[in-house]
Amino acid sequence: MTELLYQNDSYLKEFDAEILRVDAESRAVVLNRTAFYPGGGGQPCDLGLLRVAGAEYPVRKVKKQGADALHFIGGDMTLPEVGATVHGELDWERRYQLMRTHTAMHILCGVVFRDYGALVTGGNMEPLKGRMDFEFETMRKELVAEIEEAINREVENGREVKVAILPREEAFQIPDLIRTKINLLPEGIKEIRTIEIVGLDLQADGGTHVRNTSEVGRLRVANYKSKGKINKRIYVELL
Ligand SMILES: [Zn+2]
Repeated sequence: MTELLYQNDSYLKEFDAEILRVDAESRAVVLNRTAFYPGGGGQPCDLGLLRVAGAEYPVRKVKKQGADALHFIGGDMTLPEVGATVHGELDWERRYQLMRTHTAMHILCGVVFRDYGALVTGGNMEPLKGRMDFEFETMRKELVAEIEEAINREVENGREVKVAILPREEAFQIPDLIRTKINLLPEGIKEIRTIEIVGLDLQADGGTHVRNTSEVGRLRVANYKSKGKINKRIYVELL
C-alpha cells in the first residue's frame, strides 16, 4: 500500500521512501509513500525521477493499481531492489502548472453553476489548458466574454482553497457534494477528500490544487463548442 503524500500536501516537491515491490516486466516500482500524483479526475499523472544509491531513474508514468501507486521507470538500467531507499523528485514545473490548471477548472465549475445553474458532466486537462463539459442549455457564444470575466474576477478575489478528508457519512450531509454526485462513489470508499474554493465551489476530488485562486493567474476562454441541445464544452487556457 502506498501512502499518498500529495493528498495532504500538494506543494511537496521531493520525498524519501522505500521500495515495496518491483515488477521487472513492466519496469514498475511500488513505494511505501509517494508525492507523485498517479492521474485521475481529468488531471494527468506527474513525471520526475527517483534517486537510488547515486543512480537516477526517470519516472515516465505513474498509475494507481488498487492501493498501490506504480512508478514506471524509463530507460534500460537495471531496476533497483525491494527494500532500497529512494529519493523522489517531481518535475515541479509541470506539476505546478497542473495545480493551477486544476484549480482553474474548479473556478469555472463554480462560476458556471453559481451564475447559470449548469452542472458539470466531465472534463480533462493538460498543463495550462483544459476543457469542461456542462449541461448548459442556454450557453451561447455571447456568454463567453461574461464567463471569462467572472472567472478572472474570482482569481483576483484571492479565494482560499481548502482540502479536507471526511468520513463518508459526514460528506453525505453536505448539499454541495450531492450535486457533484458523490453518491456514485463505490461503497468501499470510507473517506472522501474534498476541495473547497471558499465561497465559490466544493467538490469531492482527488487532485492537487493551489492554496489560493490568485496563484492561478489570468485565464481566457479559448473556445466553446455545442455538443448538442443540452451539452456544451468550454475550453480554458492559462496565460
Ligand atoms: Zn477536480
